[in-house]
Amino acid sequence: MATSDTTFDLTVIGSGPGGYVAAIRAAQLGLKTAVVEMAPLPGGTCLHWGCIPTKALLHAAEVLESSRHAGRFGVKVAPGELDIPGLHKYKDRVVLSNAKGVEFLFKKNGVTLIPGRGTLAARGQVAVTPSDGAVKRIDTKATIVATGSAIRGLPGVAFDGERIIHSDHALGLKAIPASMIVLGAGAVGVEFASIYATFGAKVTLVELLPRLIPIEDAALGAELEKAFKKRGIGVHTGTKVEKVEAAPAGVKVFATKDGKPVELAAETLLVAIGRRPLTENLGLEAAGVKTNRGFVEVDGLMRTSVPGVFAIGDIVATQALAHVASHEGIVAAEAAAGGNPHPIDYDKIPSCTYCDPEVASVGLSEEEARKRGHEVVVGQFPFSAIGKAKILDDTRGFVKIVCEAKYDEVLGVHIIGPHATGLISEATAALSLEATAASLFEAVHAHPTLAEALGEAALAVHKRAIHI
Ligand code: FAD
Repeated sequence: MATSDTTFDLTVIGSGPGGYVAAIRAAQLGLKTAVVEMAPLPGGTCLHWGCIPTKALLHAAEVLESSRHAGRFGVKVAPGELDIPGLHKYKDRVVLSNAKGVEFLFKKNGVTLIPGRGTLAARGQVAVTPSDGAVKRIDTKATIVATGSAIRGLPGVAFDGERIIHSDHALGLKAIPASMIVLGAGAVGVEFASIYATFGAKVTLVELLPRLIPIEDAALGAELEKAFKKRGIGVHTGTKVEKVEAAPAGVKVFATKDGKPVELAAETLLVAIGRRPLTENLGLEAAGVKTNRGFVEVDGLMRTSVPGVFAIGDIVATQALAHVASHEGIVAAEAAAGGNPHPIDYDKIPSCTYCDPEVASVGLSEEEARKRGHEVVVGQFPFSAIGKAKILDDTRGFVKIVCEAKYDEVLGVHIIGPHATGLISEATAALSLEATAASLFEAVHAHPTLAEALGEAALAVHKRAIHI
């Protein structure tokens, strides 16, 4: 066991969902643990700039939308109005309360939070540079690097925070622009497109790849495009942006689609083309930690090429998701404590996109399953045939199950529609238990629930869905 306040068994650099979870797990295992964090509060991108504040805005958008349509349920209310200062107050309150929660968990578990910028120093040492003081050194038996990611910009296009913005700016806009172009239709792009469309902006999405949410099963992208167009969101897929020009009243985007020019103009351009790992100036190279295209190379237990140094979260080349970072944190902490944790099965990670309608999936897409040589059978069931969806007056979308034909094993579940992001948990449990379609439909689904669509889609794999 370590002995002083500058000597630890484990030091974690970064307190996002990777780092803070790793620290708590390490402390539970009896390691004297420190977390070095350069931001004023713990929680990382997820808590301050990502998952939590975006979902607060999405929830506000949902409340606004409900107020507009309450009449359909026989409830008379005046259509809601956006109160922007109130919106930010609500979002900031949620963020602060979660950050305080992380601080509380550190105290409860005896984790020491050290403010400052951490870098790898000599072997077994981390250097900490506080914002207003001298560098100090920590002796540590093991180190977990969990420094996360940063915004990726468009070459030659400068962010000004008003006309040309990124996701951090989009969380705090003081007014809703009359029109917005969102560049990039991954999870972040479609979530902000959804939020700002509900808030009243005329939104146009531009995506280089042939469909929205390109990493999802093709059927989900096609259905989302249909739903977005119905909501009045413009969609340009397969469209390459060539040039962006800021004008006094907004921004012009010059693009090409199939070799033909596409010219778009809006008050604001939101660039949402992804993030890059934050691995520079951390002393990784000097320490001998191998990287590849900026990502730290790790094995299944999150060990880097240097003994005693682990890496987790957005700085490794796995899915850039908070729950992935957290699970990697647990694996790394357990490995650092001398345990033998199970490596993560990255084929069974749920992926959720909280736009309207919601999208969620786990496992292999139909295309990927076929590419890997599986003989595939698919079952699909629409929410339009589900009683609960009719109660909610939201019958958009479906559940699609991708199954292995011979052994009936469920390989992937893909959902678009009401509460898809909650429904995916059953599918995640099913995949992790190596469920078959038969075992999924033999598990009785309560009525009336949206989850009945999962049972029916499983029946549809065997061509025996009941309600269609
Ligand atoms: P981070 O959360 O980025 O945390 C890294 C921490 O390290 C930060 O606090 C940073 O200040 C600190 N740090 C960096 N360098 C140093 C240093 N040298 N010394 C000390 N501290 C340092 N994921 C989901 O699963 N669900 C979602 O709904 C979701 N929504 C998102 C929405 C947006 C707009 C964005 C941008 C991301 C979203 N993500 C979502 C992704 C998610 O936020 C990241 O995958 C997750 O935060 C990665 O966690 P991490 O611990 O690796 O890094």
